[in-house]
Amino acid sequence: MDQVDCVVVGAGVVGLAVARALALQGREVLVLEAANAFGTGTSSRNSEVIHAGIYYAPGSLKAVLCVQGRALLYDYCQARGISHRRCGKLIVATTSAQVAQLQGIAEQARRNGVADLVMLSAEEARQIEPQLVCEAALLSPSTGILDSHGLMLALLGDLENAGGVLAPNSPLEGALVGPSAIELHAADGTRLQARTVVNAAGLQAPALAARFAGLDPQFVPQAFYAKGNYFTLATRAPFSHLIYPVPQAAGLGVHLTLDLGGQAKFGPDVQWVDGSDDLTVDPARGDGFYAEVRKYWPGLQDGALLPGYAGIRPKISGPGEPARDFMIQTQRDHGVPGLVNLFGIESPGLTSCLAIADMVAKQLESDPN
Ligand SMILES: Cc1cc2nc3c(=O)[nH]c(=O)nc-3n(C[C@H](O)[C@H](O)[C@H](O)COP(=O)(O)OP(=O)(O)OC[C@H]3O[C@@H](n4cnc5c(N)ncnc54)[C@H](O)[C@@H]3O)c2cc1C
Repeated sequence: MDQVDCVVVGAGVVGLAVARALALQGREVLVLEAANAFGTGTSSRNSEVIHAGIYYAPGSLKAVLCVQGRALLYDYCQARGISHRRCGKLIVATTSAQVAQLQGIAEQARRNGVADLVMLSAEEARQIEPQLVCEAALLSPSTGILDSHGLMLALLGDLENAGGVLAPNSPLEGALVGPSAIELHAADGTRLQARTVVNAAGLQAPALAARFAGLDPQFVPQAFYAKGNYFTLATRAPFSHLIYPVPQAAGLGVHLTLDLGGQAKFGPDVQWVDGSDDLTVDPARGDGFYAEVRKYWPGLQDGALLPGYAGIRPKISGPGEPARDFMIQTQRDHGVPGLVNLFGIESPGLTSCLAIADMVAKQLESDPN
């Protein structure tokens, strides 16, 4: 049976970042990807926002890794010439009750280490975004956007330069965990032995972990899927900042994000679905967007929103439950030497990818085996 030091399962932005970090430590790394190319999953179906780290519970992995990851990501984009823009974002209060909520958001952000938020009056907000209608706004200058495909290309380049290999069309079927190595079973019947295995299979990570014989099933969380639908603006956006309403219980609200070409999109909304396959956007869902958007942009014209694309959040908490933190499981958690499971890597997973990779690489270094 062939042997390899490290196998990373999944070539999304997180899998590639982890693979790169391990290869840069001088380890032999093979990335198994089920699809015929890297980054065709959630990593190419998101908002491409570099989040500041505002909303997450202080001390959570999401908060810590987002703030660390954001700094690492800006530096990496700068160093590697990856297109990005620190365009900033406005969180807008459209009622007086929401103005009080802005103070709470600013305080939570400060506890997360995001100390650069600026409270703006309605007039100050209108000066920088004349089409915006609000009672007050919070400006986050360190929120930005990036070219996520360019990021993944750069990560892959670093991985390959360090001797790592990406194997597309290589779905992993399951594994048998042993005391000193993990035996991997590919769908085509190939068997491979690895000392370290990182399960970065995104939406499929829990299902894949459930097929690892020898891993106690109690450590595999139930998977839930929350589709996020986007609607694109048919005309050019009159905004230069990202515009977010004050967050609601079910998510961040219908917000406006921009891509690097200036195209605006609204969403993602939250649609709980049973599986991870259906990525179609139901045009009827756009009907509900108009009223939400007009709360802060009354100038939105009828018929201006076109169905865009959808991504599915790899959730490990279900409808009505509080969102769970990223789950980064190592030997210390499940007792299996060399196995790392990455569960629930939803937003801000793109922003956090380099910090997640550092954490995984460091934890593997310090694990007993
Ligand atoms: C709607 C939406 C908007 C988002 N917006 C943002 C944002 O603006 N900013 C931000 O920071 N984050 C955002 N995120 C989160 C971010 O996109 C994800 O956290 C990130 O892309 C996850 O990357 P990943 O590598 O873990 O997963 P994926 O990109 O899903 O990669 C997993 C890979 O594993 C492969 N795979 C699965 N099973 C197997 C198998 N058995 N064998 C081999 N390969 C397998 C898949 O083919 C896939 O390529 C958003 C997410 C969604 C859904």
